[in-house]
Amino acid sequence: MFGSLKALPADPILGLLAKYREDSNPQKIDLGVGVYKDEAGHTAILKCVKTAEKHRNDTEDTKVYIGPTGSPLFNDEMSKLIFGDHKVLSENRARTVSTPGGTGALRVAAEFIKSCKAGATIWVSNPTWANHTGLFEAAGLTVKTYPYYDHENKCLDFDGMLAALKEVSADDAVLLHACCHNPSGMDLNQEQWQQVTEVAKDIGFLPVVDMAYQGFGTGLDEDAAGLRLLANNVEEMVVCSSCSKNFGLYRERIGATTIIGKSSTAIDIAYSVLLSVVRVIYSMPPAHGAALVETILSSDELRSQWHQELAEMRNRINGNRQIIVDKLIENGVERDFSFITRQNGMFSFLGITPEQVQRLQDEFSIYMVGSSRMSIAGIAKSNVDYLAQSIAKVL
Ligand code: PLP
Repeated sequence: MFGSLKALPADPILGLLAKYREDSNPQKIDLGVGVYKDEAGHTAILKCVKTAEKHRNDTEDTKVYIGPTGSPLFNDEMSKLIFGDHKVLSENRARTVSTPGGTGALRVAAEFIKSCKAGATIWVSNPTWANHTGLFEAAGLTVKTYPYYDHENKCLDFDGMLAALKEVSADDAVLLHACCHNPSGMDLNQEQWQQVTEVAKDIGFLPVVDMAYQGFGTGLDEDAAGLRLLANNVEEMVVCSSCSKNFGLYRERIGATTIIGKSSTAIDIAYSVLLSVVRVIYSMPPAHGAALVETILSSDELRSQWHQELAEMRNRINGNRQIIVDKLIENGVERDFSFITRQNGMFSFLGITPEQVQRLQDEFSIYMVGSSRMSIAGIAKSNVDYLAQSIAKVL
């Protein structure tokens, strides 16, 4: 059976990480991998998570199966985190399941869409997170793209995006990034969300919102404002969220899929289908990460500690955006990189050529993916001078 297989290339980002690890240059910088790092380049466990974990160890008294929904308290707390006091919750039109990370949330959403309409088309931004296309295609959806990032002008191609969305058909799905667009860092402003909302409402396509970075952009509520506006105006919607980045729970694999329906009766029917989708993929989600998140979100003390730790991560990333732009100017770079400060979250395209990306790697041990997407969290006060000097040299 296996004899017919042909070896596939390694995932480019994981391959980059392996090369970085082997590099003996003490000045090496990893701007590839999409995880938050502190000034020392370490991805520490949040203090609120450590406390929640102690509590969990002391109080957990069974490992019995949890069921396809996962923990009801986690699902409830996540719905509130995503929607605040939104009417979709008071109208009882939302249902949430815990999932294995944001990736699991997206796969569940894709299988659910397939149950609604076999072979449905989902539109994703060009560019989008590298895993979106493969993940949706693996679930049997057809993937098409709408214009999103204008590489030349380093801004949103909003006219192109809107024009493409106007051509989408009513039984298609459209994937939108809630905030901190991966890979461009370029987000819609509230006025643009309003316009997208109007198109979604007019056409009636299904918005699928991927929120992998809530709290990493401007703030927890601010980052969800676009999707909340959308939810005010459309009858059906899907939200896929992840606790990997904002709770630092990467390897615990915890996220959520939330579906919104026209009425509480309609959403109960849809929910029964969502649960059957879960049952045949992984049956039930992992419980540990969910227990930590629900402990934090349901405790005033831990929740406020989390807000503080999240703000620290967000402020460090935003600070890095300003620092690298300033340092490039200091090093005599004339090209305008100020767009980096107008983008959000973990990533931005530096906007240099693949050859220049390769030179950064070969000559300076600076690692970023070939598209010149750089992980802003990899910048630190200790390496930013070397980084700016090296970029100046390859330019
Ligand atoms: N969606 C986007 C846009 C992402 O960038 C990521 C992770 O990088 C995910 C989803 C998946 O996150 P998780 O690690 O929770 O599966």
